[in-house]
Amino acid sequence: MTEERKSKKRLKTSKELNRLVTEYYLNCQTAKAEGRPVAWMPPMNGVIELCYAMDVQPVFPENWSPVCAAFGLTPQNFKVSEDMGYSRDICGYLRNIIGYVNGLMNEKDTPLGGLPEPDILFTPGGGCVPVMKIFHALERRFPKAAVFSADLPQVAIEDINDTHIDYAIAESERLINFVTETTGRRLDMDRLRETVVLSDQACALWDEIMSFRRYIPVPFSAAEMGIMFVMVTLQGTQKAVDYLTRVRDEVRQKAESGSGVIENEKLRLFWDNIPLWYNMGLFNYFEAAGGVVVAETYSAAWSIRMDPQNPIRSLALKSLKSYPLVSCVSINKRKEMVLNACREYAIDGVIFHRNKSCIPITLGQMEIKRALEEELNIPSVIIDADHMDERNFSMAQFQTRVDAFMEMLADRKGY
Ligand code: SF4
Repeated sequence: MTEERKSKKRLKTSKELNRLVTEYYLNCQTAKAEGRPVAWMPPMNGVIELCYAMDVQPVFPENWSPVCAAFGLTPQNFKVSEDMGYSRDICGYLRNIIGYVNGLMNEKDTPLGGLPEPDILFTPGGGCVPVMKIFHALERRFPKAAVFSADLPQVAIEDINDTHIDYAIAESERLINFVTETTGRRLDMDRLRETVVLSDQACALWDEIMSFRRYIPVPFSAAEMGIMFVMVTLQGTQKAVDYLTRVRDEVRQKAESGSGVIENEKLRLFWDNIPLWYNMGLFNYFEAAGGVVVAETYSAAWSIRMDPQNPIRSLALKSLKSYPLVSCVSINKRKEMVLNACREYAIDGVIFHRNKSCIPITLGQMEIKRALEEELNIPSVIIDADHMDERNFSMAQFQTRVDAFMEMLADRKGY
């Protein structure tokens, strides 16, 4: 990846992230080498805490996709999956991971050592169709892996009721028995409680970090979003809590001393949808016109507070709620969340990433756009792109639309 495609990071703690990423993938490989069970699973559910509590190494193929994008591996992975017959219209995470496991994974010298083969595949359900389909394909690719499939419902957050929760609790208990039968490891309830406490502390820290983004000037922009890696892969660990504490301290110090991301912050922006993982440098593009991306939709799903007194119920609720916070959500709820964020973070303009390969998050954008104009008088611009596949992105089109948008926003504010 060229330097301009990487985002410019201002936080010292952001620069520590490379080490954490490297260590995490090294741990995944070490677990395999030492005979500790390796479980592949989708992110955003209450299985990660169970894994850390039972000494099972969690691996997230979906999270591996942004890593592939950052290392420029996606074109190769897409070629493999497209040659297998997967259409370019399908989610880029799915095409990337299918391509990777059937291509590069078999080669030596993959960045960060690549992913170790799974001993277990967990599919909790509750996510979008591509997430479920990734795991169907992985079952075929890794026939020796033990498979646990739950069938959690895809239900809007405001519609989750006791029946859904009871079912999710029953599925969590079934999962614990499955891990014991498959690995011989028993769940120690005290250890699970400790893991849930750590997970909850990470969420509280995440919320606190996000709260400093309300400050003007903002001390933390979307360019630092890579920090989310810790929320995806290390929730329930002391390492996540220690790192997020350092991030919180740095961001708080900047916020309280009035030190912003850029010197002369003029325009506060909101980004809807997933970033372009192959070009995170776009978040710095707005800075030339005094703009900073202060908030975004994607970071909302990573903080679901947990109750250590009810660890299994907490895990069940997390599995039910995470996806509806971002993708499998009612349009009304999404509209409410975007409008609330725009009020909370004093947003001047919204960038809608119309994401060719994520239909669930793209659905409803036009309705939200209208509501922003009518209810809050906030203008927005639509950028056509794709979070994984750069063939669906045109820099020239991006610049034309963004330049005109930033000029209009500056005019409105009298700059
Ligand atoms: S939510 Fe969007 S990006 Fe995530 S797996 Fe589903 S379709 Fe792909």
